[in-house]
Amino acid sequence: MEIINESNIVKTIKIDEFSLPESVDFTCGFCSRLVNYYLDWNEYNGRVMFTTSRCSGCGGMSKFYLVEFMENSDDYYEGILYISPGSNRRKPIKGIESYPEFNKGLVRAYNSTINVFNLGEWTATSILCRRLLEGITKSILPETEQYRPLARQLEILPNKVDLDKPILTLAHAIRIGGNLGAHFDLEKEPNYETSKYMVDLLEYLIEYLFILPHRIKELNEHIENLKNEKIDSNP
Ligand SMILES: [Zn+2]
Repeated sequence: MEIINESNIVKTIKIDEFSLPESVDFTCGFCSRLVNYYLDWNEYNGRVMFTTSRCSGCGGMSKFYLVEFMENSDDYYEGILYISPGSNRRKPIKGIESYPEFNKGLVRAYNSTINVFNLGEWTATSILCRRLLEGITKSILPETEQYRPLARQLEILPNKVDLDKPILTLAHAIRIGGNLGAHFDLEKEPNYETSKYMVDLLEYLIEYLFILPHRIKELNEHIENLKNEKIDSNP
């Protein structure tokens, strides 16, 4: 189940005291195509409304729910629209724009990458991923190094930023947090905030040490396979 934002509602229809979404652009949860759904609501009870609509691409039947009705500025009741199954659309990392080091240009480049990915534009996605990587290295390297080729920029990156440091600091933070709980001290007891940070950080550590190396290996193998397939098909 996924919420459908107002920006995806193309047309609404007014019936009795309700303003109801009639035409919606959304990514199909069955085939991942961006399609238009026509919504025909035949029961207006003002609590939960339900209807179904078929994807024009694959024919999959999606369910739509309208809930939590509120009066809008035109005195009509509007609900929040949900679709099931959800679209599996990729969402940007939550709150990424609040990190000052990840500047506005990078946020824009990152959001564009996610958008074209969700549109199924694979070539554009791969180009934008590379562009974002370039943006990231440029945000770290001094101006004099920024005009070198990307491969060279990546080589000199570890000279400018200590890549080991964040992970070691993270591990120490978890250790120190653990000491708070392990050693009795009435003044310094771990609370919800401390525990939440610790679980979050531990998950980053697990991701970094166990998941990330596998993902990198899988991506490299995938790219190698693509290259080999190309050689096979072009003897
Ligand atoms: Zn579909």
